[in-house]
Amino acid sequence: MKVLSVASEIYPLIKTGGLADVAGALPIALAAHGVETKTLIPGYPAVMKAVKKPKKVHEFPDLLGEHANLLQASHEGLELLILDIPALYLRTGGPYLDSLGRDYPDNWKRFAALSKAGAEFAAGAVAGFQPDLVHVHDWQAALTPVYMRYAEAPEVPSLITIHNIAFQGQFGGELFASLGLPSHAWHEALEYYGTISYLKSGLMTAHALSTVSPSYAEEILTPEFGMGLEGVIASRSADLYGIVNGIDADVWNPARDTLLPATYSATQLKKRERNRRAMVERFGLHDDDGPIFCVISRLTWQKGLDLLHEVVHDIVRGGGKLAILGSGDGGIEATLQAAASQNPGRVAMVLGYDEDLSHLMQAGSDIILVPSRFEPCGLTQLYALRYGCVPLVARTGGLADTIIDANEAALAAGVATGVQFAPVTAEALRRAIQRTMRLYRDERLWPQLQKQGMKSDVSWTRSGATYAELYQRLVSKGL
Ligand code: ADP
Repeated sequence: MKVLSVASEIYPLIKTGGLADVAGALPIALAAHGVETKTLIPGYPAVMKAVKKPKKVHEFPDLLGEHANLLQASHEGLELLILDIPALYLRTGGPYLDSLGRDYPDNWKRFAALSKAGAEFAAGAVAGFQPDLVHVHDWQAALTPVYMRYAEAPEVPSLITIHNIAFQGQFGGELFASLGLPSHAWHEALEYYGTISYLKSGLMTAHALSTVSPSYAEEILTPEFGMGLEGVIASRSADLYGIVNGIDADVWNPARDTLLPATYSATQLKKRERNRRAMVERFGLHDDDGPIFCVISRLTWQKGLDLLHEVVHDIVRGGGKLAILGSGDGGIEATLQAAASQNPGRVAMVLGYDEDLSHLMQAGSDIILVPSRFEPCGLTQLYALRYGCVPLVARTGGLADTIIDANEAALAAGVATGVQFAPVTAEALRRAIQRTMRLYRDERLWPQLQKQGMKSDVSWTRSGATYAELYQRLVSKGL
């Protein structure tokens, strides 16, 4: 089967979050099931710089008013189609924000062009690769099924995956005229309380919808988690699937991770000590034997990290330490930086994004904190499982689906892999931290938790097979 995937980021070329990890790992997992994927991505500077010998395979003389070249290249096992429009993508900032952290004012056009190119590709624009199915990710690619619906071309089944419903691609209604869609598309798909919603329109027009965990698939049917789109999703619930993400088990493998001072397996947990020492040094923490809690995250309200400063005292008083890697909301950054300066040697923070350091932290910390208010799947807790770093997570979305709480029954059965808490309040988080500290001091139970986590199957094997089955069902269903 041939699949076109459309995504605005892909690991290892360009990444701001979990979407990139999935877009990069899924094609490789699917290859084992006979699925051949090409991924369409924008030609950002990082992409243009990294790919070798791109070959021009198509030209769009007028893609929403822009001249575009479509380049084909292979990169680390991925087959890429790169939409090269220098005026839209060759910019110094990030994929969505400029260097001052502001949305690019023409994001509507940047991602409409990506989506339109995807639809033209689905309609057979590039000789020799006619996809059997189109899989698009998040709002940035959500117009692809819309353009496909209104194109005069044979229908190809489409699947849209929601990685985070908080990001919907909402723009002023006046832009509708610039999207090159027929006027009836306004009411049928795009209109959202007088504005345009890219995500909503994709959810209305794709043949199937999925999100990245079974729990989140249920949660987004409710007003609390649906972020205004719960009604749209409910109207499509017969076509909604929840498939949990896997991780790239080669990139995240403590036994072979070249970024670590010491590699280790589940039977060599003592070797984590060297990583722990490297981490203690890197963060300037005291070298004593209390547990090291870590946070590797966007510092946002979604991630519940506005609560973190309220529990710093509990971690420190219990003899623990806290190492934070992240950036995001200015207010949260400031409270955590204040906590670090008030607790030298006990709390430390590295502001920014550092993939290499994140590996060391997973291998050197004892506990990772993921107190998210909502979490479609979450990846950091999966890396943590694999690295013997015990996840302490909010009981929501993919966190609830992937971590087994160390309650008495689960401990007795030997199946626990972490600690869950609810609701997401400072008080519940505080109690979970205290419970985790008690477990940490139990010399028998703690390694059992670590080992059980390391045994969890967090690879793409199972989810890759589930996606392959879904693709097959959509293709053979007939439209
Ligand atoms: P989200 O996509 O909502 O940000 P996920 O847990 O699904 O959350 O994925 C986040 C990804 O980004 C993980 O791979 C995580 O390790 C990584 N990450 C987040 N913040 C940082 C950071 N400051 N430095 C390095 N990696 C980070």
